[in-house]
Amino acid sequence: MPSITLHLGREKSLLRRHPWIFSGAIGHVEGNPGIGETVDVLDAKGNFLAKAAYSPRSNIRARIWTWLDEDVDADFLRRRLDSAINHRDGITPPLRSDACRLVHAESDGLPGLIVDRYDDVLVMQILTTGAEYWKETLADLILELTELTDIYERSDVEVRHLEALEPRAGAMRGNPPSKLVLQEYGLKFNVDIAHGHKTGFYLDQRESRHLVGQLAAERDVLNCFSYTGGFSIHAVAGGARSVTSIDSSGDALKLGVENAALNGQQAEIHEWIEGDVFKELRTFRDSRRDFDLIILDPPKFAPTISQVKKATRGYKDINLLAFKLLRPGGILITFSCSGGVDASLFQKIVAGAALDANVDAQIIQKLGQGADHPIALNFPEGAYLKGLVCRVF
Ligand code: SAH
Repeated sequence: MPSITLHLGREKSLLRRHPWIFSGAIGHVEGNPGIGETVDVLDAKGNFLAKAAYSPRSNIRARIWTWLDEDVDADFLRRRLDSAINHRDGITPPLRSDACRLVHAESDGLPGLIVDRYDDVLVMQILTTGAEYWKETLADLILELTELTDIYERSDVEVRHLEALEPRAGAMRGNPPSKLVLQEYGLKFNVDIAHGHKTGFYLDQRESRHLVGQLAAERDVLNCFSYTGGFSIHAVAGGARSVTSIDSSGDALKLGVENAALNGQQAEIHEWIEGDVFKELRTFRDSRRDFDLIILDPPKFAPTISQVKKATRGYKDINLLAFKLLRPGGILITFSCSGGVDASLFQKIVAGAALDANVDAQIIQKLGQGADHPIALNFPEGAYLKGLVCRVF
């Protein structure tokens, strides 16, 4: 078995069971491990620490499969997948949706593997060399455990570059459709599995979309970074007076318009603006347009720690503008999905934005990803989605 030996003292994060080993922690590599192959991880004295997937081109040089001295093989992967998928069975009815994340990578003990279920269709995303190495086995096991037949692969995400993996997308098993309709809290959404963001839909925001539906009655709503109108459709279903959705993607907005029709919503209640939120918010400010409920759900401004400064400015800017556009008693629902910005920093930024906008506001609820996107306690990076519901006095 090939092995990597850590520098003295660099075993500390592993003793807390953090599953990443950075290149700088490694003293030497033995046995010439191949890309994605399993290696033993040893401390500087040669004691066994874990088994990990080796990724020679990535800064995260190895990701832990297991802390036990056990074989990493099909049986091992079946146990991990079974534990992930079975756990979802317990929480699926309360989700009130036929779409659910079945495997959430590190947080399910399966680094680099995402599996989303859209009713009978599975969408698989492979982000790291370890998961790539076991890809065919994983696909077979997932079909066996779910008793389904169709898998679409969406391994065409940016982060694969960091692992020196090529992008890949398309049918992987069976005959999956490239488009489908999902149900969420009684509402229907068109999902473009082949071209949509993530695996087609932002499943992580399911519960927050439902919350917006509950808060929207009799309100003029502004949904910024709307994508295919998830929050907008829920808002109208919840009785909103009007909903304005802004996104820079014309394709996403087109699906949004279709989603409104799919749910029998009046076209006139929706306004769809293709544009840059940073600019459009300024236009609204200058024209003194105001709203009762504003949603800010931007893309990741800071995927990693290195972009935190720039991201902080971005969050501050849009939150400040949003506070200015809110009527007294209005509600701001604001999110960050940046790994580099943690919950306490995000709250500070939003507090600074309220201060500069000269409004008094209070947090009435904190939000995060749904229960099908668990956060392993040894992997705080898993808590990427942070949301605040703020009421302006
Ligand atoms: N709230 C959505 C998901 C939002 S994802 C849901 O629940 O489904 C973020 C969206 O922001 C993407 O659709 C992307 O096209 C859009 N976007 C990114 N930068 C933007 C910008 N500067 N202005 C407007 N939209 C932007």
